[in-house]
Amino acid sequence: MIKTIGFIGLGNMGQGMASQLLKHGFNVHGFDIDIAKTSKFAELGGLVCHSVQEVCAHAKVIITMLPRDEHVRQVLLSKNGVVDFAQKGTLVLEMSTIFPATSMEINSELLKAGLRMMDAPVGRTPQDALKGTLLVMVGGDKKDFDFALPIFQAMANKVIYLGATGSGIRMKVINNYMSMVSMVLTAETLAMASKAGIDMATATEVLQNTVAGRGQINVNYPRKVLAGDITPDFPIVLGRKDLALALKLGEELNTPLYLGAVASQLFSTACAQGRADQDCTAMLLALEQLGGSNSSVIFTGHKHD
Ligand code: NAD
Repeated sequence: MIKTIGFIGLGNMGQGMASQLLKHGFNVHGFDIDIAKTSKFAELGGLVCHSVQEVCAHAKVIITMLPRDEHVRQVLLSKNGVVDFAQKGTLVLEMSTIFPATSMEINSELLKAGLRMMDAPVGRTPQDALKGTLLVMVGGDKKDFDFALPIFQAMANKVIYLGATGSGIRMKVINNYMSMVSMVLTAETLAMASKAGIDMATATEVLQNTVAGRGQINVNYPRKVLAGDITPDFPIVLGRKDLALALKLGEELNTPLYLGAVASQLFSTACAQGRADQDCTAMLLALEQLGGSNSSVIFTGHKHD
């Protein structure tokens, strides 16, 4: 098994990830342009490199954990980058969060130079990086995935193989979409509660203990539409009514409900599609229809369209 890893980008996430690799017995050769980061890494027992070239001389597996597209492009593709100095057959595990198109382009440039790359971005926080409890979503060649699995497992307690090159970074962007829209939805909801004179901590306690806070993806979606069942536990027509109640209350309180207004229109659209009596989770089918795609939901003998 491979024991030597190069690590470029020892910031909030990278530092914790590299420390977990060290704890799991890997020799880690790390580089960061910020000397404070490499000093901290040395204190953890890491082997400090002073350039990308030096990392490439030591390691045939190189992890990059950098802020944005331009940094990843610079480290991997620029003159004096990994593409120039890496030993043939080197495997790059690109773990930053960047545009999928950039990731795919870098992948094909590295391939042309006789190198391999997997897109393997992570979910969760710097605290998880420190504890080795990240989630890694991986796209790329399955043989490379099997080879790299012990490396991922040193940094994460959940490693998910998504499939072909690009699917890991696409999943990461999709994950963050849900996370950030939910950030706004949570803000809208709590601001409305506050305007209604409800104590924020009490509102939070209610929301944490209903499906609203526990998450449709955890509760209703897997049980209903994703299990091929859209018989109504709670039909779309009643979901539309609840949204109307909320929008009316928002109006009375003068609190803006931007996402609520859009959701209400989408519920009306679903009713117009003939879905009024389907379960609310059939909003998935309504959105897929609007996007022009055939649903990949497999129905299991329950009522469906
Ligand atoms: P960070 O800014 O803390 O760390 C990035 C490190 O890269 C810095 O130490 C910086 O000096 C270094 N760097 C920049 N350019 C470099 C170069 N040319 N050569 C060598 N080192 C260079 O960022 P972070 O929070 O560790 O995030 C890294 C990536 O992980 C980002 O793409 C981010 O979106 C993603 N991410 C972050 C979190 C989080 O909660 N912080 C969670 C999941 C994913």
